[in-house]
Amino acid sequence: MTNPEAPSPEEPAELRRRYREERERRVRPDGARQYLAPHAEFGYYADDPYASATGEREPLRDRVDVAVVGGGFGGILAGARLRQQGVGRVRVLEKGGGFGGTWYWNRYPGIHCDIESHVYLPLLDETGYVPEWKYSPGEEIRRHAVRIAEKFDLFADALFSTSVTSLTWGETSQAWIVRTDRGDEFRATYVITATGTLTELKLPGIPGIERFKGHTFHTSRWDYAYTGGTPDGGLTGLAGKRVGVVGTGATGVQVVPKLAEDAGHLYVFQRTPSSVDVRANRRTTARDVGADREGWARERRDNFLRIVSGEPVEEDLVADRWTASAGLLEKLLPSFRRPEDRRAFESAYEVADAAKMNEIRARVERIVADADTAEKLKPWYRYACKRPTFSDTYLQAFNRDNVTLVDTADTHGIERMTERGVVVDGTEYELDCLIFATGFSVGVSGVHSGKLPVHGRDGVELLQALRQRGPRSLHGFTRNGFPNLIQLGAGQSASSVNFTHVLDEHAVHAAALVAAAEARDAVIEPSREAEDAWLAVMAEDAPDHEWFHAECTPGYYNGEGRGRPNGPHAYPHGAVAFHDLLERWREGSMDDVLKAGRAS
Ligand code: NDP
Repeated sequence: MTNPEAPSPEEPAELRRRYREERERRVRPDGARQYLAPHAEFGYYADDPYASATGEREPLRDRVDVAVVGGGFGGILAGARLRQQGVGRVRVLEKGGGFGGTWYWNRYPGIHCDIESHVYLPLLDETGYVPEWKYSPGEEIRRHAVRIAEKFDLFADALFSTSVTSLTWGETSQAWIVRTDRGDEFRATYVITATGTLTELKLPGIPGIERFKGHTFHTSRWDYAYTGGTPDGGLTGLAGKRVGVVGTGATGVQVVPKLAEDAGHLYVFQRTPSSVDVRANRRTTARDVGADREGWARERRDNFLRIVSGEPVEEDLVADRWTASAGLLEKLLPSFRRPEDRRAFESAYEVADAAKMNEIRARVERIVADADTAEKLKPWYRYACKRPTFSDTYLQAFNRDNVTLVDTADTHGIERMTERGVVVDGTEYELDCLIFATGFSVGVSGVHSGKLPVHGRDGVELLQALRQRGPRSLHGFTRNGFPNLIQLGAGQSASSVNFTHVLDEHAVHAAALVAAAEARDAVIEPSREAEDAWLAVMAEDAPDHEWFHAECTPGYYNGEGRGRPNGPHAYPHGAVAFHDLLERWREGSMDDVLKAGRAS
């Protein structure tokens, strides 16, 4: 049987031309500078709408074993793995009013995880929890974060609504001095940073954005006081209102169907359409996932990682659109096989990509009734250029009478804003409320934000060291000159679309380093030679995907159209090999990172 979506022999060239044309419609000379950060007059966009009254508390002046910066899954997993190693005083510091990180901040209507919950939710074997849905709603995930924190006793010493303002290594005390915006100044023998990647919301720098008199907020700070309802919907406050939403990425795709149900009229301002694949969410039982067997969750999680990393497996346990399209993730994840004949491989890859995107575009045509709207909703770029999305309600929302798609590609986004609404191509759309589903800045969280200075040995500042000597580390976690500082989820390691899995492997490693340092009365600090050796491993076989991303439509994957820096930024053989490498390394002496003879 022939595949109806398979491209004809001449189609790849035709698609290449169309993709370039569509890219040109969207590239902007100001690149990432087009966005506004939630600072100064826009600072209120980042206020925490979910924290209960923060209240005054006495500043802390004590000493703990480990300070963990960040209470998202990275920090929680670090805490849990440290507990398993028997570490006593672990203090998690978190800017939000509770645990959960991404899932604390993002509570917009329709929020779900788009990775299967049975592989995304960590420590299922350890907590005995079995998710109720194939793709969990956000609240189930946030509650699971709290469940882990409770089980591993992380609440007692946690500091919420607290931002770390500086970390300074004290040579005399052989400890970090941790200062916060609540006046704390305490010592921690070790610091683990788990500050996330997409954490600072960004706003579109639309001319006149400050003039709009209607209501606005960002999806990661949902204003339920205004909209009414819950993440499940029922946004009664929007009845009869003219609502606009800017952004059609993974967030926009989830939020639009819920807004459509309740808004008087919904205007969806789109610049680039997402690829929207089948979701097929459903309730699941423990039996469905074999949760009666010991180690079931670990087995499933490993199986998923192997598939999305291009490794062979006997069975696909998750069997969803991520695993079905895993081969097309090659350009996002460096771990895929290195074919002998690259040229033949690239050509077959392009054909497979065209077939997938044809399937995605055909789906739009099947679902969306209005031909003009359907045309605008079709994505014209290669699969790995943008984050794939999954929904069985998003495209359908455009069949409703109260939903209008406004395409802004020709004007590179919304032209300007007025007191009454937004202007696109000369037409003013009057709105009561405009919601920004415009995503997050890349690479500005934690120690890279400039707001958290880290002074290591001899007062050397981390960002300055990064600028002067470049990114250097051992395995991405530790850096010479910064003793007992472990960075989780940073560069120079390996990543995956299932980020919590990556964070857990990193947390296991961080906890093992701390336990070994404690056992040997040593300091954790790699030698320069160990860093050099790690840089060499990464440079050895770095994949060249820059040309691919340079051709992609702009987005945060390619620096808004500038291509994606290659070079030694990630372990080139992927997450499965990286985790194996860490495990083998831990079984060795650890001598290249543990310096004997800690003064106490
Ligand atoms: P994205 O950065 O992916 O999307 C931002 C959207 O805003 C894009 O559609 C962008 O258009 C649009 N936009 C920005 N500026 C303008 C403008 N001036 N005019 C019109 N449109 C504009 O952010 P998201 O929050 O959607 O997703 C961020 C990431 O978070 C995802 O990639 C994913 O990693 C994660 N996520 C994961 C989920 C999950 O279930 N696991 C769910 C939601 C998010 P353009 O594309 O043209 O730039």
